[in-house]
Amino acid sequence: MSVSASMLPTVTTLRDPLVKSLGKSAGDTFEKVLGLRTAGDLLRHYPRRYYTRGDLTPLDSLHEGDHVTVLAMVDLVSRIGPGPDVKYNHKPAKRGSQRLEVIVTDGPGKLQLVFFASVGLHARQLKQGSIGLFAGTVSSFRGRRQLVHPEYEMLPDTNDTPLMTAEIAEQFANELIAVYPASAKLSSWRISRAVDAVLDKLEAGEDPIPAEVREKYDLWPRELAIRAIHRPQDRAELAHARKRLKWDEAFTMQAALAQRRLAAAAMPSVPRPPVPDGLVAAFDRRLPFTLTEGQREVGEEIAHDLACAYPMNRLLQGEVGSGKTVVAVRAMLQVVDAGGQAALLAPTEVLAQQHYRSITALLGPLAQAGQLGGGDQATRVALLTGSTGVRARRSALTDAFTGDAGILIGTHALLEDRVRFADLGLAVIDEQHRFGVEQRDALRDKTLGSRPHVLVMTATPIPRTVAMTVFGDLEVSTLSELPAGRSPIASHVVPALERPRFLERAWQRIREEVESGRQAYVVCPRISSEPSGESGGEDADDLDAVFDGDADVEGGGQDASQDARRPPLAVLDVAPALAAGPLAGLRVGVMHGRLHPDEKDRVMTAFAAGQLDVLVSTTVIEVGVDVPNATTMVIMDAERFGVSQLHQLRGRVGRGAHAGLCLLVTEAPAESAARERLDAVAATGDGFQLSRLDLAQRREGDVLGSAQAGRRSSLKLLRLLVDEDLIASARVEATALVADDPQLASHPAVKDAIDDFLGDRKAEFLDKA
Ligand code: ADP
Ligand code: MG
Repeated sequence: MSVSASMLPTVTTLRDPLVKSLGKSAGDTFEKVLGLRTAGDLLRHYPRRYYTRGDLTPLDSLHEGDHVTVLAMVDLVSRIGPGPDVKYNHKPAKRGSQRLEVIVTDGPGKLQLVFFASVGLHARQLKQGSIGLFAGTVSSFRGRRQLVHPEYEMLPDTNDTPLMTAEIAEQFANELIAVYPASAKLSSWRISRAVDAVLDKLEAGEDPIPAEVREKYDLWPRELAIRAIHRPQDRAELAHARKRLKWDEAFTMQAALAQRRLAAAAMPSVPRPPVPDGLVAAFDRRLPFTLTEGQREVGEEIAHDLACAYPMNRLLQGEVGSGKTVVAVRAMLQVVDAGGQAALLAPTEVLAQQHYRSITALLGPLAQAGQLGGGDQATRVALLTGSTGVRARRSALTDAFTGDAGILIGTHALLEDRVRFADLGLAVIDEQHRFGVEQRDALRDKTLGSRPHVLVMTATPIPRTVAMTVFGDLEVSTLSELPAGRSPIASHVVPALERPRFLERAWQRIREEVESGRQAYVVCPRISSEPSGESGGEDADDLDAVFDGDADVEGGGQDASQDARRPPLAVLDVAPALAAGPLAGLRVGVMHGRLHPDEKDRVMTAFAAGQLDVLVSTTVIEVGVDVPNATTMVIMDAERFGVSQLHQLRGRVGRGAHAGLCLLVTEAPAESAARERLDAVAATGDGFQLSRLDLAQRREGDVLGSAQAGRRSSLKLLRLLVDEDLIASARVEATALVADDPQLASHPAVKDAIDDFLGDRKAEFLDKA
């Protein structure tokens, strides 16, 4: 051992600050430019891709403006300008007097490099036939793509090494070259050198994944994997490394979620066991239909959860129209039977109002406590939204506070501070299909002391892994069957430009439906065509606004910005045009978020009562709206909506005995990506399949939402859709480990991994348990 090595016995651990291995200035640069603070941060800055020596980068695929790192061979070097070598001129060279032009190639493609300074130096390094990595921003000059003053790093020339055997040369030729996500301030090879420096002294410490688990799933030890992902000998090693490091992410995340579930289960909650002859039984007797098998089974799961002394945390997902509301009402009544209260939180004013109408109707006298005709067991149902009038609000608040109202229905107004419950036993959150976790946390805090049970409902079916990660602390129930007697919804794409006759036929179709006593929706992306500042313009009072904002992101947003098509169709233009034209003589109503809440209520009530034939609306009717007599929906500018959103929208028709029809009207050209999306929606009624399609088009961070996708230490390698099996296995193993050792006292490495994974979000994460 050399003297210097023994004098510097330093090792680097994953938690050591980078400055320790790189020195102050480089360490600071890494933190400033890439946000990497520790050795572990740097080692989790994984290569973006790997070049195989010998496989040059296809240069023809480069785009102007891209910051690229390419592997290419020097083909031609020309000095342009005076003198053989300015360096030996006694006069200093004038800037621009000489330049170096270098053509690099991948075989078929070419790229020009230009240097205006240090010409001699570059000329010596860039020898014809040698191979290197070149990094810069692609620009164009006289039709040629070029890099001006690129940074570069030449690979050692194998031919220069006389001792090299054919075998070694072969190995060398196959070596993978890691290329890192880089920036103009930190090139791929500077990162690469820093990684080398850290790897050199790395002692990764105890492996967080127990040996039995590694054996069972054929996982490499962590340190080996960390080394291999940065310096793989071949693709097989790389595959092993990636698999292992994906496991790290999945295992750590699932261990964190398992701890959170355990912590939640340790909170006290008041048990609300079923009462044999209570409101639930009376309600069941009043139901005009029999429950489906699924409704009964899920109902039993929930009934059991509610009877426990720790809080239920359950996600109920079901296809659009599968009858989740009835399940929720029965759960709420069980809690009321047991002497508690229940709250139902709806995402929009329209939906809250509808729930209030339909639930009071279903309950009949059971909801008329203290009124003439109200049953002995009867309770009271109150509605509270942002627009509830002063008197109604006062009485709703009082009824909640005194406990006279067993059920409170509302929008997020229910979350306001002044809303206090006598004894909130259950919070139901309807249609939380935007993958958020925030509201349920707010509702939970409504009762001091014990926690209410929580039921989250969503009609956007969530793939298994998303449920296991985003909603990882929830138990999941699924309603997969629709009530008997439903007819499937037929969906068709109507290409309005190519086939104008199809659109005429659509309006004709609505007339026919109305003639036979049915009703129809026409959905438009906008309220009004007048520029109003906010794009959707839905009222900010309830979450309609949030929903419409989302619509812009996933639907028309990207399409609209890409071309200069006409502005999206607006309810306030389309409704009068239809009433005066193709739908003349029919009773056409208008619905959107900017209407006064009383007007919304009036319009929905009139439509539900059959006093309107056609409702021209924005997406405020997207979720939950239930008018079984409505059979036809025409969606204008359908390409401006997201896949799941279209599926939700069309779920508004075909809810009764009559077949539903959904027409997706679009001007998007055949073969376009937008048309493919619409074709997919038309082709399948399976919400699960569509939500996968939807997810595949989003970035992982969007799926995970703010709570789970932190900036610094979130998922790097794991892909929720691709890695389903891996995540499922990791969940099983992590859950078992945490069940055995809840505080991870004998698994400090897992504890550390969780801390690193959660980073700054730790407090927030644990607080929500
Ligand atoms: P979603 O799951 O989309 O929220 P809803 O709860 O709004 O669906 O139910 C859709 C419709 O189906 C409602 O009109 C509801 O009354 C009705 N429904 C619910 N359960 C049944 C059933 N078992 N049989 C027949 N109709 C049902
Ligand atoms: Mg619903």
